[in-house]
Formats: sequence, structure tokens, C-alpha cells
Amino acid sequence: MRDLSRRDLLRATAAVGAGAVVLPGVVAGDTPALAEDGPGWATDAPSPPAELTGRIVRPDDPGYARASLGWDELFVRYPLVIVFAQETQDVVNALTWARQNDVALRVRSGRHSLEGWSNVDNGLVIDVSELKSTRISAATRTATVGAGLTQSEAVAALGRHDLAVTTGGEGTVGLSGATLGGGFGFLTRYLGMACDNLIGAEIVVASGADGARAIEVDLDNHPDLLWALRGAGNGNFGIVTSLTYRVAPLTSVAYLQATWEGLENLHEVFDTWQRYAPFADNRLGAQLEIHKSQILLFGVVAEGSEAAARELLEPVLSIGSPEVTVQTGGWGETYAGFQIPNEDEPANWKFFSQFTTDPFPKRAIELVRTFMEDAPSEDSNFFTQAFGTGAQAREPRGGAAFPHRNALFYSEPGVGWGTRGEPGSGDALTPVAQAWIAEFSQALRPYVDGAYVNVPNIGMAEWETAYWGSNFARLRRIKARYDPHNVFQYEQSIPPASC
Ligand SMILES: Cc1cc2nc3c(=O)[nH]c(=O)nc-3n(C[C@H](O)[C@H](O)[C@H](O)COP(=O)(O)OP(=O)(O)OC[C@H]3O[C@@H](n4cnc5c(N)ncnc54)[C@H](O)[C@@H]3O)c2cc1C
Repeated sequence: MRDLSRRDLLRATAAVGAGAVVLPGVVAGDTPALAEDGPGWATDAPSPPAELTGRIVRPDDPGYARASLGWDELFVRYPLVIVFAQETQDVVNALTWARQNDVALRVRSGRHSLEGWSNVDNGLVIDVSELKSTRISAATRTATVGAGLTQSEAVAALGRHDLAVTTGGEGTVGLSGATLGGGFGFLTRYLGMACDNLIGAEIVVASGADGARAIEVDLDNHPDLLWALRGAGNGNFGIVTSLTYRVAPLTSVAYLQATWEGLENLHEVFDTWQRYAPFADNRLGAQLEIHKSQILLFGVVAEGSEAAARELLEPVLSIGSPEVTVQTGGWGETYAGFQIPNEDEPANWKFFSQFTTDPFPKRAIELVRTFMEDAPSEDSNFFTQAFGTGAQAREPRGGAAFPHRNALFYSEPGVGWGTRGEPGSGDALTPVAQAWIAEFSQALRPYVDGAYVNVPNIGMAEWETAYWGSNFARLRRIKARYDPHNVFQYEQSIPPASC
């Protein structure tokens, strides 16, 4: 630990002008070579003093509030400094600086952390969202992209080449954050989890006593770290600066939406969906979204026609009299078409994640209905995503830390409230919303098995095994190898195994 007062620290950050590039000796090539194995993989010699580089935002900058605010406005933090990296070296410098000055740090990409864990009071936020490079090869079916792409940007860039990789459905979510925790969406049953298609990464890790360096990770180099980044990489091992994916050809999709007014058909729709959608043709990705007084079904059929979409979802569509629409087109334009602008979303959100391996019995579906009818806001919903016998049931070559291979479906109660840009507008509803989500998720506990690290469950007793099952012990060993000093830590980060 260095002896640095808070005043020194403020002076140090103030000395760094926006965009200044100062790098006294902390370059990847200067740091000691890494041994492939074991903690202490670099010497403990101190690095030369580092300075922050990149686009730097501090509390007295006019853009500070905007630069700091995350997607979920329930969490407001006041970081000491935010570094928007322009290149990998800025990340190396920032990590070294944080270590040398004993400043807490967080990693951020798309700002959608659902507990606000990509930001920290009084600390350094290393933001990679301006790393926007794309290198796409249709010939090798690979894509290497900067860690700052949003999911929308990634889908659009790949779509221009009639290629695709799995992403979640919300375009503004960071591709990094989604992939490193797993990443599922309409293409999961067709292509596997986003993390299953991750075949390489550049990552800046802590190195030596107080330094940092960038390393390349793939199936041949640091394969244990690649395994860990496939589902447990969020802010645990280092800062990912680029991601390489295996991508798949995808020329068109059929996108179906069905709406049932009222919840009268809920039991039949839910039960049919859970017994059918997880076992359907793998080209089908299907979600249910249950609101206070509406049931929505969404389906995407990869390389499918309107007729195929209607036929694949017929067992569910034949219940009651839903209003059904189907569009066909390229995946890029279809994905762009179903986005909801951020401004139209409530300011505050709270979710609870859960995986399910056995179908919900009647009692559980009844609970969903009861809680949804009593939901605290119109924006509340109970969301489900079919898994089952899709491609995600098989691990990729080299394996993955993401464990939920036998899930039938994923689900989450979610509650949204308050108005964006109007701080405090939802305060009166906050305790009601928090209580609703806590009681709802508690009531469903007998019917669920496991949780999703990308939608973290705060206060969950055994979150380690809920997120990663028996993979947790291996993750701790890998943590000890790549981050023995536990530089990357937050409320539910992976602690290093004690040797
Ligand atoms: C509206 C909404 C819809 C969602 N829908 C889906 C869905 O359909 N499917 C799905 O799988 N998930 C979904 N999610 C969850 C989403 O995957 C996570 O919230 C994700 O972690 C957000 O990533 P981010 O980069 O936007 O967030 P950030 O807040 O920037 O980061 C999230 C976490 O990842 C870490 N992190 C970010 N970038 C890096 C990096 N480059 N290197 C190392 N660590 C990093 C952060 O430290 C933090 O712990 C949804 C979330 C929201 C808010």
C-alpha cells in the first residue's frame, strides 16, 4: 500500500488533463514476462510511476454526472475519476495507477450492471466503451471487436456481412458485459451462449507488485483464463479490451410477436410454452413476457419463413385468441426494429434471476399470475427465455465457466419505476418495488435452481454456486493465478483461492 493522502490523490488526478498521454515506462513490453503457471507469475519489482491517459473525466468537469451515470438510475455513484480508454495502453496505465495509488477500481463497458457494480464511490472507473474497433472475416467466420461495442453495434456490424453471434435482446447493453457473464438471447438455442462463441480476448491483468500488462488469451494461450472469461469474466480477472468470436452465417430471420390481453390464458400459455419451446427445432428462440394485464410471446426463427415461425409456435398460438404479427428480414434490421429507446424506459430497475430445470407446476404459474396482477408498476414483468435442448446445452471446445447447461428455461421478475432525467421521481415507489421483487423471488424459490451472474441477486446466501455451480472452486484457483492480490474485487467478485 502506498502512503498517499486523499488530497495528494486529488492533486494527482487534477494534474492529468483530458486526453493527455503520459506513459512513464509502463508498457506491456517492459513488464516482466509472465510464467504460464502459478501465482507470482511476474516479479514483485515495482513498476515506474504511472499516470492516467485517455479521455479523463473528473468531478469538476461539466460532463461528470453524465459520464458517471449508469443505465439503472437506482444506483448513483461518485467516482474520483473516470478514464475512457482510447487504446489498450490507457487501460494498462489506469490499472497500474490504481494499484500504485491504492485506489479502488471498477471496469465498465455498456453501464448496464444491474447492481451498479461497474462504478464505485471515490474510486477509478476504467471505461472501455470507446474501444470500438471491428475486424470481421467472413472467410474465417471470426470477428475481433473492441470491448466497447454495444450489442446493437455488434449485431449491425456482423449483419452487414450476413453473420451473427448470440447477444441479448437489449441493444444498449455492452457486448463485453453480456458475453463475459454468459449472454443469451433469441439466437442461444441456435448458436449457444455468447460466451460459448468467444474464442479469444485481449485482457489487461495485474502484473507484479503494482503493475499491469495486456495478454492474449485463446485456446492455446492461457486456456484456463479463456474458460473463466466464458461466463465469469465480469470484473474478476482483468479488463478485457477486445473479444474474438466465432461467428455464424445468418441471412434472414422470422420474428413473431403474439399478444394475449388479460392473464386468463396464463396457465395454458405458460405450461404449453415450457413443455414445447425448450425442445423445439433449435432455430427457434422463444421468450414469454408476462405483464400486469397482458401476455407477450416473442419468437425468432433463424433462416425461417413466416410459415415456419407460425408452425413452430403453433402449440402456443392455438391457445385463446392472441394477436399475432410476423416480420421477416435480415437479423441486423430485425434486431434494430424491436429496440425500445432508452429514454422510454423507467429510470430504476430491480430484477431477480433464476434458472429452472423442471417445468413449473400449476402452483408456480399461479404465483406468477398473482404477483403480476399485483405488480407495483405497468413496466413490471416476468420474463422467460427457453433453453432446453438448444445449442447452449453443449459446452464449447475448451469448456466454459457458464454452468447452466441443463436449464429448461431462464426467468426473472423485473420491476421498473421512476422517470429518466427526473432524479427522485420514483422514490415513493422504491420500497414497494423492492419488497415486491423480494417476495416474488422468495415465493418461487422451491421451483428454481441457480441464478445468472449477469443479473446478480444481491443478498443471496450461496451466490457462488448459484452462478457457477461446481465451477466455483476452479474459478478461485484461476483467480489466484491471474489476480493473486485480489485487485479486481467488488460485492460478489471471485476471491482468489488461498494457496
Ligand atoms: C435492460 C436489460 C436487458 C438485459 N437483457 C439481457 C438478455 O437478454 N440476455 C442476457 O444475457 N443478459 C441480459 N441483461 C444482462 C446484461 O447481460 C448484464 O447487465 C451485463 O453485464 C451488462 O453489461 P454492460 O457492459 O452493459 O454493463 P457494465 O455495467 O459496463 O458491466 C457489467 C459488468 O461487467 C464488467 N465488465 C464490463 N466490461 C468489462 C470488460 N471489458 N472487462 C471485464 N469486465 C467487464 C463490469 O465490471 C461489471 O461487473 C440485460 C440487462 C439489462 C439492463
